[in-house]
Amino acid sequence: MMITTLPLIGITVHPDDDPDRANLDRLLAQIVQGVERAGGAPVLVPLGLSETTLRGLFARLDGLLFTGGGDMDPALYGAEPHPALGGVSGERDRTELALARWVAAAGKPAFGICRGAQLFNVAFGGTLYRDISEHPGALRHAYGAEAESALRPHAVQIEEETTLARLVGRPALEVNSLHHQALRQVAPALRVAARAPDGLVEAVELIGHPFALAVQWHPECLPALPEQRRLFEGLVAAARLTGA
Ligand code: MN
Repeated sequence: MMITTLPLIGITVHPDDDPDRANLDRLLAQIVQGVERAGGAPVLVPLGLSETTLRGLFARLDGLLFTGGGDMDPALYGAEPHPALGGVSGERDRTELALARWVAAAGKPAFGICRGAQLFNVAFGGTLYRDISEHPGALRHAYGAEAESALRPHAVQIEEETTLARLVGRPALEVNSLHHQALRQVAPALRVAARAPDGLVEAVELIGHPFALAVQWHPECLPALPEQRRLFEGLVAAARLTGA
């Protein structure tokens, strides 16, 4: 019998009482499928674990996937509340910030989607636009569910010699856009890997890390597109090296 490595990919989750739960449940199911299709074993990481349990679980995982969801508490990046904020969960922030910092310290592969990009930035000292209306000249980025798979709301320009460029294999992509927040001041530990035409950051990578990439769009909703599937495949391939 051939023995194949099945890397364990931890997937973060939204709280049960998230106001956008119906959408997030659907996206989470697509993420689980995306990880499995890429050859990984999806492991949902529950909220509410003690730090000891979370740390022990983290140690067993070969890679992490940070999912989309509600907004981070602006106090985490030194900002005041804003009327556009929604779905803030202190428990989710606490869990994911710990995991993101452990990913950096351990060199463990990680991929972030939407909120995942914002999480990376806040975890390493960056700030966010609490609402994209705070960015002068912003395009529309907050499309609804109709934009998930059918439409391509905007392009992204990909920076050369990034993990993203290597995975996608082309200098530009059309992507979906379901976010009302974005990165503002980029953390020094991160490198910008893609931008929208209005200058907003659409992807970042941890500098000096083997595989820690986060994108602002939702590749899980675009499984028919090979370059979007490659983001999941890249995570699983990197995790396979870790777990080997
Ligand atoms: Mn966008």
